[in-house]
Amino acid sequence: MKETQKVSVRPYLHAIYRKNRIRFAATICLYLTFGLIDTTFAVLQGEVLNAITMGSLSRLGIIAGILLFALVADFLIEMAAYQMKCRFVHQGIAQYKGHLFREISRKTIAAFTRENTGRYLSLLTNDANTIEENYLNRVTIISSMAFTVVTSLVAMLLLSWKLTLIGLLLSLIPTAVSAGMSRELARREKAVSDQNERFLSLVKDFLTGFSVVKSFKAETEMIRRFDAMNQKTETCKQRRRWWDCLVNASGNLSSSIFMFGPYFAGAILALNGEIAIGTVVSVANLCGSISWSIRELPGFWASRKAAGALIGKAAKVVQENTVSHGSQMQPVLREGIRLSHVGYRYDGSDTEALRDVTLNFAPGKSYAIVGGSGSGKSTLLSLLMGASGQYSGSITIDGQELRGIDTDSLYDLCSLIGQNVFLFDDTVGNNITMFRQFSDEAVDAAVQRSGLKELVQQRGLAYPCGENGNNLSGGERQRISIARCLLRNTPVLLLDEATAALDNSTAHAVTQSILDLQGLTRLVVTHRLDQVLLRQFDEILVLRDGAVCETGHFDQLMQKMGYFYSLYTVSES
Ligand code: ADP
Repeated sequence: MKETQKVSVRPYLHAIYRKNRIRFAATICLYLTFGLIDTTFAVLQGEVLNAITMGSLSRLGIIAGILLFALVADFLIEMAAYQMKCRFVHQGIAQYKGHLFREISRKTIAAFTRENTGRYLSLLTNDANTIEENYLNRVTIISSMAFTVVTSLVAMLLLSWKLTLIGLLLSLIPTAVSAGMSRELARREKAVSDQNERFLSLVKDFLTGFSVVKSFKAETEMIRRFDAMNQKTETCKQRRRWWDCLVNASGNLSSSIFMFGPYFAGAILALNGEIAIGTVVSVANLCGSISWSIRELPGFWASRKAAGALIGKAAKVVQENTVSHGSQMQPVLREGIRLSHVGYRYDGSDTEALRDVTLNFAPGKSYAIVGGSGSGKSTLLSLLMGASGQYSGSITIDGQELRGIDTDSLYDLCSLIGQNVFLFDDTVGNNITMFRQFSDEAVDAAVQRSGLKELVQQRGLAYPCGENGNNLSGGERQRISIARCLLRNTPVLLLDEATAALDNSTAHAVTQSILDLQGLTRLVVTHRLDQVLLRQFDEILVLRDGAVCETGHFDQLMQKMGYFYSLYTVSES
């Protein structure tokens, strides 16, 4: 199930720029024009001085006209550039998050339950904010700065090639500083992102398990853990800020060197009478705007690179265990499910949770799976749902090896009702249909079979379930999860202690309605050894310590007086 292709950030970049390229190009063009006007201002100041020294009023008038025009253009272009940048950034980050969310939704259920969901919260919040601020917002500033440097150097070249040469040589200093430091800053940025992930995960655990924490009086320990994690997170951020500061200070130093170098060289040339005094002022202004860019550029470039590394991190995290692309199956079971000498051991466990299991599930039949706690019942069902391909032996569905079946089509074939129920903070109706369209008759039938009729009659399908289904009892929540699964109508239905939260009579009625379903293959894990129900299963499979120890019809197993007999008699007493 694991995909080991090389991680590519291209789809994420594509998501940012999709239907956003024109805005991006317009933003860059506007910022470049803005930078060009700034360069014009720098030159015009010197030209004013030259006009004064030449005593030319008409020249001064022309310069004043150009200056006025440039001022109006500067104002308008700045406004337009800012507006365009905001549109580009908002569209880009929304599309980036949308793409990330879609990729996360492609994960397999099994992989997702193994992973820490805090990391995804962090990718969609902290990391996305950093990408918006340092990656998208800065692309325009960086390009306008780079352009200012180029146009100012061209203007300097036109004014004096000697000063330009000195400027070019001095600009090598900040370039080297930036290149050297950006790698370290990227490492720090990733460390902050990893730490944020751990922090969010701790907070999430605390909020989700709040009632457990309170009832077991574990607040003190939780506060201690929070304080330690909080401190670590802030220290990590502090280290990153320190590097930010170092990069900025080095940028400042190199920009000062750059600013004063050509300025003093220009002053010497002017004293020698090689260039006019106004040209020195123009060169000084141009050096000023270049040095501002040079001061800010290393920091901006380094944090943009660091933020770009977060896109790589997101791509890597999301690519692990996404839905497999194996062979497609029709949503119908023809030959049945066959397990042959299946063994399975959880990662890091010494003992096998399943041992040499050989079973055959025929289409349309019902099977009860019984056994003591820890005998491997849930493991068997989760393997059938594609939880892991790391089993030994073989599991085939209609002759296709389970490992090679596309996960999406497996989910169309089998559905699992587990012990843990999740309800959305939405209506009963939406929680049953899972926001899809079904006919009223289909919904009514699912409501009826799952024992939800009374609830729906009393409160209606529009009744809000509340956060985590807080407005409903445990039994009602479980019945909604059963109705939801029945509505999907997959050919194979797996129930893992699905009626455990229900009272005896409701559990009996719900299991009976599942037994009455015609044409579906049903595998029901149950600890309720109810004779009336057990007699109706086509076969009972008894597990003990991960192995199948007995199989047969209820009466056969009772006559055998083996392990099932003892389980049954103990439960009766
Ligand atoms: P049952 O459903 O019959 O109670 P399970 O299938 O849940 O049993 O568990 C079978 C064995 O596998 C038990 O020994 C249990 O401790 C072990 N087990 C279950 N889940 C995990 C897991 N995620 N990691 C390691 N061991 C596990």
